[in-house]
Amino acid sequence: MAQGVDPDARNKLIVALDVANAQAGAALAESLRGRAGMFKVGLELSTAEGPVLVRYLLAQGERVFWDLKFHDIPNTVAQAARQATLKGVTMFNVHAAGGKKMIEAAVRASQEAANETEQPRPLVVAVTLLTSLDRAALKEIGWSGKPEEIAVRLAKLAQGAGADGVVASAQEAALIRNTCGADFVIVTPGIRPQGAAAGDQSRITTPEAAIRAGADYLVVGRPITASPDPAAAAAAIIDEIQKAAEPAQSSPRKK
Ligand code: C5P
Repeated sequence: MAQGVDPDARNKLIVALDVANAQAGAALAESLRGRAGMFKVGLELSTAEGPVLVRYLLAQGERVFWDLKFHDIPNTVAQAARQATLKGVTMFNVHAAGGKKMIEAAVRASQEAANETEQPRPLVVAVTLLTSLDRAALKEIGWSGKPEEIAVRLAKLAQGAGADGVVASAQEAALIRNTCGADFVIVTPGIRPQGAAAGDQSRITTPEAAIRAGADYLVVGRPITASPDPAAAAAAIIDEIQKAAEPAQSSPRKK
């Protein structure tokens, strides 16, 4: 582990390796060694290169969140969930809007694959609302109501279907925590340290606010990966996570 890095705070940081090829992803992961609890491999890289970087990271002993946001009929999602599980990732996700049966199928197929390989089942988390969607965009797709109401509704649906947690904006994390309880995993993207560019994200939050709102994991991409010094940017965020988590450390909730 990198010197001076608090392991509990570090484990809460998931760095999004949103790059175009596995070589760039591997180089970025190398520059961040010991400074991320997990690496997130998403659509761009997986479309370009399939599971190449996922395999590489796992061979390096890293933990991987495979962010493919499955959203299809239950049988198709179940087969994809099985394949993700067989690779040995720590976490993968589905869209909560795919419905109860789809989420149940993903969890069941993942459990079966994990049993076959005698590995722990990956955390299955459901995307509630993309953090890039604001109220106007939600209205355009016909989802009425406030973003936080929709997110909580979808979180409850996902929990009822057996998902381990959700991917949601930190702005909805406190409500989801209250509704779904202490053991429900909350992963929050849309994280921007003070002064960082929002980019295409709409519902953004600082690392400190996300932790205080009850997030278990923070997904951070460009504020780290587009920084001239990714390792220093990650260290600063881990520091902020640690400071925000300090008062909560005496609480009985453990993750
Ligand atoms: O660069 P940035 O920090 O905005 O990256 C956020 C990452 O989290 C991206 O990889 C994006 O795909 C992902 N994500 C998100 N909103 C969600 C789910 C995933 O931004 N609701």
